[in-house]
Amino acid sequence: MIPGHVKLIAVSKTKSEDEILEAYNTGHRFFGENRVQELLEKQKKLPPDIEWHFIGHLQTNKVRSLVPYVAMIQSVDSFRLLKVIDSEAGRCGRTAVCLLQFHIASEESKFGFAIDEAMQMLESEEFRNLKSHRLCGVMGMATFTDDTELVRKEFRCLSDYFNLLKNKYFRDIPWFCELSMGMSGDYNTAIEEGSTMVRIGSIIFGERR
Ligand SMILES: *Cc1c(COP(=O)(O)O)cnc(C)c1O
Repeated sequence: MIPGHVKLIAVSKTKSEDEILEAYNTGHRFFGENRVQELLEKQKKLPPDIEWHFIGHLQTNKVRSLVPYVAMIQSVDSFRLLKVIDSEAGRCGRTAVCLLQFHIASEESKFGFAIDEAMQMLESEEFRNLKSHRLCGVMGMATFTDDTELVRKEFRCLSDYFNLLKNKYFRDIPWFCELSMGMSGDYNTAIEEGSTMVRIGSIIFGERR
């Protein structure tokens, strides 16, 4: 159901360690969490070859505890946050692997950059001086709706942002290649629009209580 070139992140937020292990035992290695404390507790108890992806809004005061344990922070939604991530990764001799989260939904509440804001950041001297992170692409969430055409429009918008940034700033950067979009309700549309990474919870683990 998901083509081989698309990476599946199993979103395990609110699910127990047993439920995660069950998925692990069928071969899943990539899991997504949206709360720092919950990710850290699970990471401690579960097999070390799990690749943890952070997908929730990240407060700057929690970056230090998260950075050593996470394979990718998909939800970098401000320059301020990226600066803290870079600095904390530098402190512990790491390179923090990140995606820039964009606001593409018509709903108010979702976090993320606007495109002009991201471009301003990428063109700044301050950004060029950051050395301990690696931007690998973009992430976004579409509006939660049955209106497939709206969802498609939003994914297309994120894909346009990706292409714009790739051509303007990351043309020679092979690892800037990820377009993380698509959840349980909309992953087919996301894949049709070029997603390279889908984040799926409910279909894998059942509805969250
Ligand atoms: C919860 C969550 C998902 C997965 O949602 P499902 O509808 O359960 O597949 C994907 N991405 C983010 C950012 C989430 O918070």
